[in-house]
Amino acid sequence: MSWRDLGAGEVRPGHVGESHTLAGWVARRRDHGGLIFIDLRDHTGIVQLVVNPEQAPDAAAQAHEIRNEFVLQVEGEVVARAPDAVNPNLPTGEVELRVETLRTVSRSTPLPFQLDEENVDENLRLRYRWLDLRTPRMQRNLQLSHTVVAQIRRTMEEQGFIDVWTPSMTKGTPEGARDFVVPVRLQPGRFFALAQSPQVFKQLCMIGGLDRYYQIATCWRDEDLRADRQFEFRQLDLELAFPTREDVLEVLERAVVASFEAVGQVPPSRPFPRFSYDDVMERYGTDKPDLRFGLEINDATEVTRGSEFGVFGNAPMVRLLVVPKAFSRAELERLEEVAKEWGAKGLAYLVFGEDGEVRSPIAKFLSELELASFRADPGSTVLFAAGEQVTVERVLGGLRAHLGRELELADESRQSLLWVLDFPLFQRDEETGKWTFMHHPFTAPLPGSEELVERDPGAALSQHYDLIWNGWELGSGSIRIHDSELQAAVFRTMGMSHEEVSAKFGYLLEALRMGAPPHGGFAMGLDRFIALLAGEPNIREIIPFPKVSSGSDPLTGAPTELPPEQLAELGIAVIVEKD
Ligand code: ASP
Repeated sequence: MSWRDLGAGEVRPGHVGESHTLAGWVARRRDHGGLIFIDLRDHTGIVQLVVNPEQAPDAAAQAHEIRNEFVLQVEGEVVARAPDAVNPNLPTGEVELRVETLRTVSRSTPLPFQLDEENVDENLRLRYRWLDLRTPRMQRNLQLSHTVVAQIRRTMEEQGFIDVWTPSMTKGTPEGARDFVVPVRLQPGRFFALAQSPQVFKQLCMIGGLDRYYQIATCWRDEDLRADRQFEFRQLDLELAFPTREDVLEVLERAVVASFEAVGQVPPSRPFPRFSYDDVMERYGTDKPDLRFGLEINDATEVTRGSEFGVFGNAPMVRLLVVPKAFSRAELERLEEVAKEWGAKGLAYLVFGEDGEVRSPIAKFLSELELASFRADPGSTVLFAAGEQVTVERVLGGLRAHLGRELELADESRQSLLWVLDFPLFQRDEETGKWTFMHHPFTAPLPGSEELVERDPGAALSQHYDLIWNGWELGSGSIRIHDSELQAAVFRTMGMSHEEVSAKFGYLLEALRMGAPPHGGFAMGLDRFIALLAGEPNIREIIPFPKVSSGSDPLTGAPTELPPEQLAELGIAVIVEKD
């Protein structure tokens, strides 16, 4: 006997008169004047069962016992529903199964929440994830996730990529986060790091002559958790030998477009627009702009040279945003708080009322020329930021993103996919003041920037590129350094001693000296990508068993302490005080 010969959601009028066996969960039970109706659910959908105590007394007796989420096996005849009982909202709504035998396969204890309940607390959902996974939302998200991954694999194979496995337990990889570490019983006091990405290994694959590598790779990064961040996540990771930058971007565009098509969504048109880093920073104050709305930043530095208003006159840079709304004083106070979070000292503004009159404490300090050049439409507000370039960009970029959300400026029917190119090679580490990489230290300088690596690091541009979707960074990549001397120069600029470089990356420099082809690649955050395709604001909704923001797994209770014997075996003494 097989458990079932048809999916619950697959029963159709064409099956009327046939006898079928179904198996699944009780979504709902209703007793109606002797008849018992049961909604039976499996991964294909829901069908209505009807148990008539006169025709099937044993089944009816069983049916009285059942509760939501019991697992049943039923056998009976598919019958057409009476016209007034047809449910047009269900694909199976024209039929029902008239139950002849009913078997309770598995019982359920009372449920911590009902599957059709709205706004169930997320911790509770994750604590009982096996129940939550049965909901249409999670079934849909995980199916969509599978569809996308399967499509990506097909696209990569069509483009000549081979799937190569790289180790998870390795040496620290510099992706800008902390490593998770794994103690080694056989070598107490030594640790593996869990790979923050397969970066170095995929480069070694290219040096190893593999030509086109890809992997749906799990990466581990010890960072604070957020809506778009988990300790472990998946990347579509790839690398090509002898590529141009365009080759890499094209591979990604194809994978992205194919994924949209696979889930039945209108794909963005190719090629995706390309912007330089300088351009987006100047116009949008961020390297991940959401271009579903305009709200561009404008420069005011020239006009405010020598301004009577000292905040402007003395600032190296002044820029502004014209917002299509005349804000009230209370709203401006809130915006000032937002600006302060981004590093502003205050927020200067000009409000133009519906009558076109200007309202602002700073207007009296501004010259005719300044006022004329800042004049905006009635019913709008001009917001200023003044100071160092980084602060001005950060503040106006932060305000722009905030206002985009607050005023719902984004055209939700549009997708904004774009590339940001020509990033700086280095940036200053805010804590140490030393030069550090912008992407990772293996990124090649732009042709022409090689000689700046040591001479003027801040001016060197790189062959690093980011893919941005609706203001989210979907992924990053670069053309890599394939010359060991240049690689060593980058490490020197970052202040690494010869010994440190040898200890950390000696093997890579050695490999680069043994016939390294030009190579480059990319990694796209799959969970983010799938969350965006699913329309989910939080990647936890597309990850079957995620961690919560405290860094715990509510389902298993991990992480947990280790028994003293296990710690001793690993050579580890825990020095953290328990609270
Ligand atoms: N390893 C990089 C990352 O994980 C991606 C790349 O450069 O290919 O972001």
